[in-house]
Amino acid sequence: MELWFTEHHTPNVRFSIKVDRQLYSGRSEFQRIDIFDSKEFGRFLTLDGYMMLTEMDEFIYHEMITHVPMCVNPDAHDILVIGGGDGGTVRELLRYPTVRHIDLVEIDELVVEVCKKYLPQTAGCLGDPRVTIHYEDGLKYVRHAEDAYDLIIVDSTDPFGPGEGLFTKEFYGNCYKALREDGIMVNQHESPFYQQDAYAMQRAHKRIVDSFPISRVYQAHIPTYPSGHWLFGFAAKKRHPVKDVNWVRWNAIGLKTRYYNTQLHAGAFALPNYVEKMLRDVEPES
Ligand code: SAM
Repeated sequence: MELWFTEHHTPNVRFSIKVDRQLYSGRSEFQRIDIFDSKEFGRFLTLDGYMMLTEMDEFIYHEMITHVPMCVNPDAHDILVIGGGDGGTVRELLRYPTVRHIDLVEIDELVVEVCKKYLPQTAGCLGDPRVTIHYEDGLKYVRHAEDAYDLIIVDSTDPFGPGEGLFTKEFYGNCYKALREDGIMVNQHESPFYQQDAYAMQRAHKRIVDSFPISRVYQAHIPTYPSGHWLFGFAAKKRHPVKDVNWVRWNAIGLKTRYYNTQLHAGAFALPNYVEKMLRDVEPES
């Protein structure tokens, strides 16, 4: 008997992965949590039936959400990661000896516990002494932070369920306040392709543009996310993500990566015309 994991990317489009075994299934007060094992993608985590990460392709997402901002500001010492309970984002940040402290604000302790047990590839680093995990709502946590972080990475689920508050104007405004004068915020920014994802992306972009003087979007292809065309938001108080970058300095750090490189960084901000139009359509008249 064959077992398949299927995610509905739209009411008319499904994405399925053949599963060898289901390793875990449980429910926290926030969401259903499942871990599967598969030939094609290795182990993978889903929350409420939505794909979060697979062992095979998580490097793409976690490298792009971390090394782009770290290349723009390699002096980022104090970092806030909101969501990210699987540990992949934290793992990549810890590779920088200059990173002093990471506050990981994950609403669901069970996600961390399950990932520590079944996904050591991403969660194995969460015991690092530079990491403090706060099991609380990122929306509430950031209300009380001011001038505290060089970088905020919003590694959240989608804008419904527990993640909904992490796509609001209030949240982005409080992230701005929580950042230092040279601060950068990067967020998981949905996708331009399917209608529901595109609408969520435009809504998030408008709210970020209203909160930050510099707001750009960059892209990567992530095979297991809806359409494979995924976006990240880059917002900053001062730094432009491509113009103000010391590429030589980042390359001199000597980090070995499988997806990110500084040429791809610059190119990732060159978006398809239809995506540029979606963004322009929600930006204030210049
Ligand atoms: N890379 C994945 C993606 O792009 O969908 C996200 C990975 S991570 C598993 C997302 C995490 O965000 C989950 O562990 C979830 O519990 C957490 N989360 C959702 N809403 C949150 C909130 N309001 N505050 C803090 N963490 C939240």
